[in-house]
Amino acid sequence: MTTTMTMKNEPIPLLDLRGQYEPLRKEMRVAMDRVCDSQWFIGGPEVEACEREIADYCGCEFGIGMSSGTDALLCGMMAMGIGPGDEVVVPSFTFFATAGCVSRLGATPVFADVDPDTYNLTAACIAPKLTEKTKLIIPVHLFGQCAEMDEILALAAQRGIAVMEDSAQSIGSTYKGRQACSMGLMGTLSFFPSKNLGAFGDAGMIVTNDADVAHMCRLFRNHGAEPKYYHSHIGGNFRLDALQAAILRVKLPHLDSWSKGRIENAVKYDSLLAGAPVKCPRIADGNKSIYNQYVIAAPRRDELRKHLADRGISTEIYYPVPLHLQDCFAQYGGKHNDLPTCETAANEVLALPIYPELTDGQIERVAAEIQAFYN
Ligand SMILES: *Cc1c(COP(=O)(O)O)cnc(C)c1O
Repeated sequence: MTTTMTMKNEPIPLLDLRGQYEPLRKEMRVAMDRVCDSQWFIGGPEVEACEREIADYCGCEFGIGMSSGTDALLCGMMAMGIGPGDEVVVPSFTFFATAGCVSRLGATPVFADVDPDTYNLTAACIAPKLTEKTKLIIPVHLFGQCAEMDEILALAAQRGIAVMEDSAQSIGSTYKGRQACSMGLMGTLSFFPSKNLGAFGDAGMIVTNDADVAHMCRLFRNHGAEPKYYHSHIGGNFRLDALQAAILRVKLPHLDSWSKGRIENAVKYDSLLAGAPVKCPRIADGNKSIYNQYVIAAPRRDELRKHLADRGISTEIYYPVPLHLQDCFAQYGGKHNDLPTCETAANEVLALPIYPELTDGQIERVAAEIQAFYN
């Protein structure tokens, strides 16, 4: 009886990585020991094997290990020569880094609205934002679902503009059978611990099918030096640690089963939330989402969030302020009502716990509490 009561009231975190770690503990130790015994911490065989394996997984020819998903965006744009005078079209409804990196290079992020169902850029959202100065479009495959890439790629090709896919939230998701990050000039990945493939710290990768892009990214990752101490370009230190690479190699073979677990949980939420006045995630035809987040649009969102928090259920708002309204981007002149879908989304979205180790009982409790709130 007591046990049941405790179970019933046990907090449900938004994400709990311990369940994923436990069965891999031994294998992780072996992998970390391998690196420690070799004392080869930067570059080397572990990083190269990790790059090979993740590029293969993504259906890309080249993988360039990066220190984070943010640095992958930054380094990728440096490798393309993006700088002052250039415009880069980005969604306003995304994680900060997508636009922050553009700004850090002295280029101008041009914020576009998104589709109300997928929260992703579409060609129709992008087209009015293109100018003679547009050098790059960065579709973000948000929450684990790909943007409508055929239309975006066609528009970009027609205008001679490159496409870089911010795939930080979407490793393993597919669009008409094609892997996220394999469709544009390059794709960027994040292995931040809360992503579907998470390292034990910060890590990321650029993947591409273009040998020249791969070469330039490698150059910029390492201070633009080739050979060592001879600098043709001004790069940075964006390298992936061997320890993180070793950990990622242990986890990669499990990624598909983890993503499958998330998809199964999403199906359960979809049916348990039927009848509630919330909008469940809408997955476009031809897309397979890996549900990095399960994000509902909810009326009275903040009250619902408090209702759940009071009952031990953690949720998160990705993202409460669209980027065109962020203080640090005021210089670009964004105003309220410029991008209505992004602004509405910021007021409605709520991410529910979706990690694969959630039990049916936990999912049922979250859904029941949401139903109870609206009843
Ligand atoms: C997580 C994330 C990033 C940044 O990745 P880090 O590894 O945290 O630097 C960039 N873009 C999007 C959409 C993300 O979700």
